[in-house]
Amino acid sequence: MALIVQKFGGTSVADTQKILAAARKAIRERRAGNQVVMVVSAMGKQTDHLIELAKELSERPNNREMDMLLSTGEQVTIALMAIALESLGYKAVSFTGAQIGIRTDATYSKARIRSISTDRMKRALDEGKIVIAAGFQGIDDDFNITTLGRGGSDTTAVALAAALQADRCDIYTDVDGVYTTDPRIVPEARRVDRISYDEMLELASMGAGVMHSRSIEFAKKFGVLVHVRSSFSDGDGTLIGPLPEREHAPVCGVALAKDETRLTVVGVPDKPGVAMQIFSKLADARIATDMIAQNSSADGKTDVSLTLQSDDAYKAREVVSQLVDEIGAESFEFDENVAKISVVGLGMANQTGVAQQMFHALFECGINIHMIATSDIKISALVSRDDAVKALRATHASFKLDQELTPEEINARSAVATSPASLDKCASARLISHLTGMEDVVVESIDLDAAQARVTLYALPDSPGLAAKVFDRVAEGHIIVDMIVQSVGRDNLANITFTIPRDELDSVMKVAQELCDTFHCSAEYDSRAAKLTVRGAGLRSHTGLAYRMFRTLGEGNVNVSVISLSERCAAVIVDEAHGETGRDNLAKEFSEETF
Ligand code: ADP
Ligand code: ASP
Ligand code: MG
Repeated sequence: MALIVQKFGGTSVADTQKILAAARKAIRERRAGNQVVMVVSAMGKQTDHLIELAKELSERPNNREMDMLLSTGEQVTIALMAIALESLGYKAVSFTGAQIGIRTDATYSKARIRSISTDRMKRALDEGKIVIAAGFQGIDDDFNITTLGRGGSDTTAVALAAALQADRCDIYTDVDGVYTTDPRIVPEARRVDRISYDEMLELASMGAGVMHSRSIEFAKKFGVLVHVRSSFSDGDGTLIGPLPEREHAPVCGVALAKDETRLTVVGVPDKPGVAMQIFSKLADARIATDMIAQNSSADGKTDVSLTLQSDDAYKAREVVSQLVDEIGAESFEFDENVAKISVVGLGMANQTGVAQQMFHALFECGINIHMIATSDIKISALVSRDDAVKALRATHASFKLDQELTPEEINARSAVATSPASLDKCASARLISHLTGMEDVVVESIDLDAAQARVTLYALPDSPGLAAKVFDRVAEGHIIVDMIVQSVGRDNLANITFTIPRDELDSVMKVAQELCDTFHCSAEYDSRAAKLTVRGAGLRSHTGLAYRMFRTLGEGNVNVSVISLSERCAAVIVDEAHGETGRDNLAKEFSEETF
């Protein structure tokens, strides 16, 4: 007898007929002899509706009361689902988050799961009942109701699957799987049969709304196989597991985050540790940042730019307006009319020309890139929100993501086993007992690459095609460019920084010099750069982690010049002489999180 967790999103339970249809899916598994735990969302757009009601009364409603309010949406669905199942002749019982002991921290609207007690669910399952759990909600130590963040029912489902050591977690939704990009925006998008945890984690955290990114953290950490499939048909969907669909494909998907905001703190004193205070304060307020760039200027000041989700902009404004005086910065700016396009793929880590291809695609449709940030398997470009959809389409087309797999690729793929979970069940149980909180961050490795070089081009004229021109030239030498950061500073001049293997420095500097002649800019390099990388899951959304990384390096007097932050990988460039100290200090700092 298998244990299956089935999750139904809002559209899949939007009315009583759909609730009955979902109930029948559970019954089918039950009749096949399996135990079933259903996790359900609020009906249709109920969560949006509740938010609107609160906004009618207050522009900034109280966080605790918002969670109290929003949790009611799921509570309606669980009761109706139980009634539906009983009407069809099956025993069922509904539970709120509190009733199944989903303990969270006390961060309203973004709470993280600490523990789940499985006793009550197991008792009900043993009594032959179908268990129906409310998604998206939990309870803190003071019995306050908390919610996990929009889309959080996915996380409830995968967390329950992990805690119950379920055989499978089926996510039923209004699309029949994970596509190469949002099929509602790009109809040519192709459904993928399978996608790796790492790729899905990056895509989800960069805006692919089909899965809540924290659910993939759980899935990866506890080896849960996730099957995304349609509520409205019976075909196969997409398996999210340890293996990618195409091992060497540079790009497996493109994500769009429409509601991004860029924050620039202008005229920050260029002293070690000052920029870090900005992250520390934002991290304390649980604001996850992305696309971090610093533009040094001649007068000993730097501009620090970063992006955050527009939902957090109000809070960020409060934090930053206090901070500007404290750190002696000149001013700050928010640009709320931006969107982020990200390409993701395991294969890009060791291929050349991927970034350049993306920049080209954007250039060809005349789109200006405001910022660039990369991590090992992700490249993000910030564009004006009005250009977002055009940029998404162009990028998707450029990587030919609509193309079906060739017969050879299908053969190669089926030769690989479909379901070896990355952790076996014993390992997963050990991990659960070791962690103080189920959502605690897990660090996989801390690495030092001491043979890097950094190149920076200063004061480039910011216009469409700039990045494409620069990386076209660099790519001609088939050089693997690693971290790329571009941001636009004062007077509309852009800086582009990138890292390369040190033995390529001479040839890259020749190219850089030619670029300087063309663009009347200047180039600078550091031949003694080293890269420190922390790998794991949830590194960006656990906002405190990046800050601890910077603080640890700062305390050891290790100065950081380039930062790249993603869910799975936080990397910084430091001076080669400090590489080993930095690595050792980080290993000490994260010893508790490393398994
Ligand atoms: P649910 O209510 O079932 O949780 P969501 O609306 O949260 O459903 O997620 C499904 C939606 O995600 C789809 O309707 C689709 O528009 C969107 N989406 C975004 N990116 C992707 C992608 N890469 N693949 C599939 N769907 C995507
Ligand atoms: N009902 C919540 C939301 O709309 C949670 C979810 O559906 O996953 O965000
Ligand atoms: Mg969802």
